[in-house]
Amino acid sequence: MNTEIIAVGSELLLGQIANTNAQFLSKQLAEIGVNVFYHTVVGDNAERLKKTIEVAQKRADLIIFTGGLGPTKDDLTKETIAAMLGKRLVIHQEALDSIEEYFRKTNRVMTPNNRKQALVLEESTILFNHHGMAPGMALKIGDTHYMLLPGPPKEMQPMFQTFGRDYIAKQLGKVERIESRVLRFFGIGESQLETEIEDLLDRQTNPTIAPLAGDGEVTLRLTAKHSSKEEAISMLDEVERQIQERVHEFFYGYEETTLYEEVLNLLKEKGLTIASAESLTGGLFSERLVSLPGAGDIVQGGIICYQNEVKQHVVGVSADTLQDHGAVSQQCAKEMAENVRQLCRSNIGISFTGVAGPKVQEGKEVGTVFMGIAIENEPTEVYHLQLSGGRQSIRTRAVKYGCYYLLRLLK
Ligand code: ATP
Ligand code: MG
Repeated sequence: MNTEIIAVGSELLLGQIANTNAQFLSKQLAEIGVNVFYHTVVGDNAERLKKTIEVAQKRADLIIFTGGLGPTKDDLTKETIAAMLGKRLVIHQEALDSIEEYFRKTNRVMTPNNRKQALVLEESTILFNHHGMAPGMALKIGDTHYMLLPGPPKEMQPMFQTFGRDYIAKQLGKVERIESRVLRFFGIGESQLETEIEDLLDRQTNPTIAPLAGDGEVTLRLTAKHSSKEEAISMLDEVERQIQERVHEFFYGYEETTLYEEVLNLLKEKGLTIASAESLTGGLFSERLVSLPGAGDIVQGGIICYQNEVKQHVVGVSADTLQDHGAVSQQCAKEMAENVRQLCRSNIGISFTGVAGPKVQEGKEVGTVFMGIAIENEPTEVYHLQLSGGRQSIRTRAVKYGCYYLLRLLK
């Protein structure tokens, strides 16, 4: 089933919003093995919408529309499709009841144009809207399937996940189950990861392996299809085993987890507390951990020691170290980590010092970062990184590397 997604809305063409609906739907469709060949965007204009549909009818078996189901004049998706397909628009009683109920409950006056939202294409399957008023719909005319979804993502996404996906799977006559698993990696570039598993990528059919890179991380989405769920899962286990054999040292977690969550969970599991001394990251490490629920028992405290004066007088980095090696140095990172651990009486001290840019500092290049990790009764480890990118990206990645090395040390 080849699909085209048509997003309707002039605000998309004006650049006021990004077409995240198409992105969401493409991802969802990929998961059930449906090809998306085109993303189209068209404004709120009946004539141009009609032309767009004529093109899509020639090249797609499934056309999914988002937007333009609302009550106002510029919402004309249904009306245009109805006219083109020779279908009438009929009131859907259940939808109308729920719209009236909504207005009663919120004590608002229902204007006549709101009735319009309960109009659906005759003979279509209704996709209920539990997060708004306008229902979605799906129908097949000739060999082409049409699916109409509302524009607001908070209505469109649950509608598609609850009703839209099933409708499509049914049309495909699929009895196969789709199981997927996401593996998350850090500290390895996308091209290096792909090189390590190149033969697996070349051979893939079922399960499929889809790499995705972003924000210094790489993920692999494994997707298996089988009529039995257990069988699909054991197929995933087998590919995962082959992947882990090669790149396990860079693996840090599954699905939507983050490095921060993994660090917090591991510290909790081991009953350890942590404190941080942060220069270039300015508290970012602390912030990332503290923003997670459960940080209370783990994060002991932290010191933002941006200026050397604070490094020396608050954190207690020795004057000699600052003089002889500078603030961006192995020695300074070591003392920052050890001292903050002592000062905050935590099991672990972590430190970040470096050059976030834009200017060279102490003759050290932008992107130079030293990170110390002091664990109680263990020798302190210091890592030297040379990061690229802008100021924010260097700071964020320094924190991610901190988490990554901490995980490696503790595991
Ligand atoms: P409403 O009943 O809210 O008018 P609608 O189905 O008529 O819904 P639109 O009027 O086209 O949809 O869009 C409503 C809002 O939904 C937009 O202002 C925008 O915030 C969001 N939206 C619409 N299309 C998209 C899209 N393709 N990607 C992301 N957001 C979108
Ligand atoms: Mg609208």
